[in-house]
Parts: sequence; structure tokens; C-alpha cells
Amino acid sequence: MTDVHRWEVPGRVNLIGEHLDYNGGPVLPIAIDRSLTIKVRSRDDAVVNLWSDLPGSTKVSFGTGVQPGEVEGWATYGAGMVWSMTQAGHDIPGADIVVESRLPSGAGLSSSAALTCGIGAALNELFGLGLDRTRIAQLAQRAETDFAGAPVGMMDQLTVLLGEVDHAVLMDTSVSPPTTTTVPVTWEEDGLTMLVINTGAHHALADGEYAARRDECERAAAELGLEWLSDATLDATVRLTDDTLKARTRHVLTETARVRGAVSAINRRAWAQLGTILTASHASLRDDFQVSCPELDVAVEAALEAGALGARMTGGGFGGSAIALLPIDRLSAVRERVEARYASHQWKPPQTFVVHAADGAHRVT
Ligand code: ADP
Ligand code: MG
Repeated sequence: MTDVHRWEVPGRVNLIGEHLDYNGGPVLPIAIDRSLTIKVRSRDDAVVNLWSDLPGSTKVSFGTGVQPGEVEGWATYGAGMVWSMTQAGHDIPGADIVVESRLPSGAGLSSSAALTCGIGAALNELFGLGLDRTRIAQLAQRAETDFAGAPVGMMDQLTVLLGEVDHAVLMDTSVSPPTTTTVPVTWEEDGLTMLVINTGAHHALADGEYAARRDECERAAAELGLEWLSDATLDATVRLTDDTLKARTRHVLTETARVRGAVSAINRRAWAQLGTILTASHASLRDDFQVSCPELDVAVEAALEAGALGARMTGGGFGGSAIALLPIDRLSAVRERVEARYASHQWKPPQTFVVHAADGAHRVT
């Protein structure tokens, strides 16, 4: 029997800087204390077996030479990571991989990056491949874009690999790969907490609209002669002729400013100001970028009504999760208000849980 290595890999929430990672802007995510456990064991027969406790999943087996299109369904991301690693010339003799999850899948909390990066980090160590974390993040991004067909930036992968307990990760996405610095987050010392509200909604629009936003941002940047839309200045919103492109640009440039404001507020422990900035980000994503949905808007409104300092959707939008920053003594009130508002719409109750900034992927045994 060969050794089993066990890894813990967090999900993430983006505090602020939404839809900026493909516009060259700053983003400010945290890794969260909701994680996947990934157990790996080596094989020498060029076979990979994948098990998961994801509802409805049964064991999937494929060869280490797996190609795009050969594995579909729940195992796509896992197979995609093996493909991405072998494609880049890294030798994987074979592996048994078991995934156990405390991180909801498809909730905008980056279970996909936790899975691909966790498999990458675990196989890297198991087979002594010598990859650094940034390289693993790049390979994981490639698994998502070129194997699973999801055209994502690199924020999620870098966060789940480089996150640090009690810190956010400030990323500059104008360079490739993005550079990162950590920012201490101390709201808990001042009696605040962060609540995730998983709406449970997945609107079918999500993939198409995400691609459409990327395309609109590229068109706006081209019209303004900019490499990155996040470099746009306020007069850009006047010069652009198309109202939709104007609104998208307005989101990108105001969101870029809000990330800077959020970092400053965090450093000064100016929590009310941070809350105001988070809520303004939501309004911009709802009105200018148009990636929210009723379930996210109601979650944000209800949290604010019940005493949150600020709240916003996090992740790509059209469903998924919202976050709220609130005094710990408002926790029950916020939960109850969100649940009551959902019940009045006859929506399924949302899942809510408190998160702390946690460490990135690490080996446990
Ligand atoms: P998100 O990253 O927001 O959770 P995605 O749609 O990007 O949502 O990723 C979800 C996909 O990630 C799942 O369809 C599955 O392929 C993979 N995944 C997530 N969690 C698990 C798990 N526990 N076991 C196996 N695969 C998982
Ligand atoms: Mg994902």
C-alpha cells in the first residue's frame, strides 16, 4: 500500500474587485475556512481514479493521457487538472484521488479552483514535480478554460493556493501572472463578522452573460485605445458612444477605485466605511454591470435592513453567494431577515454561514 497524503483546500470569497480580474484591475479576495479535503495515493499504471462525496457522483476512471471531451460531468475539473499537468510535460504515473467537501459546489465560492488547485498541489508533492504555487495556479486556470470550457481569470486559483489566515490577498491582475500582497483583516477583533449567504440560485444565463461581459469590456478598451479597461478615466464614460459600454466601463473604473478605498478602510479599521464601499460595489454590479439577480439583491437588502454595515454579491453573479459584514450581535437578526424575505418570495431558504480568512491549500497528513 502506498502512502496517502491528505490536503485541505479552501474556497474563497472576493471581498471586492468584481469582474476586474480580466480587466487588469485589483481584486481583494480571502481564502475561507470552508474547504475540500483531497486524499491522493500514487499508482503506476497510468490510471487515475476519482471519487467524490458530491451528491450523485460515482467513481470515474481515466488514463493519465486524458484529452478534452473525454470526461464529462462532475469529474471534468479533476480530469482537466490531470490533463493540464501532463500536457505541460509533468509526469503523472497514476493516482487514486478522493474528494470530501464542506464547500458548496456551484455557489460562487470557487469549489472548482479548490478542486483543481488541490489536485495540482497534492500531485506536485506526491510526485516531486517541483512546481511553485503560481505555476500550479496557471495549470489550474488552463484546466478550467481549455478543458472545462469556463473562460476564468486567475483570481480564484491564486487565492486558494496563496491565502493566509487573517489576511486578504490583494492582486494586481494587469500583469501575467498576477502579483499578490497580503493585507491583514482584523474586523473580528472589533466585534464584526462576515456572513456568506448562498442563494442556491443558478441562473442559466450565467455562462453566456459572463462571456458577453468579457467581450463588452474588450470592445470598450479597444475603442478607448487601452490595454486594460481598468486604466480608463472618468472622461472615458463620456467618450464612448454606446450606452451599454459606457455603463460597463463605469463599473470597471469605479470598482477599481473602490478596491483602493476598501484597502485603505481595512488598514484604518474604518469598518463603516468598508461597509459602505461593499454596498456601493453591489449597486454598481446590479445597475452598471448588470450581473446581479433578484435572489442576490434581496439577500443584500435584507442584510442591510437587519443591521449589516455592508453587503454585496461575490463571484460572477446570476446566482451564487452574497457576503455581508456585520456586528456579531446582528448575526441572528440578519439570518432571520434574509430567511423571512426569501420565504415571502417563496424561494428555497438560503444557506448562511460565517467565514474567517483562512490559509491556502496545505498538506495535513
Ligand atoms: P464554483 O467554483 O462556484 O463552486 P463551478 O461551476 O465553477 O462552481 O465549479 C463546480 C464544479 O467543480 C463541479 O461541477 C465539479 O466539476 C467541481 N467540483 C466542485 N466540488 C467538487 C467535489 N466536492 N467533488 C468533485 N468535483 C467538485
Ligand atoms: Mg468555479
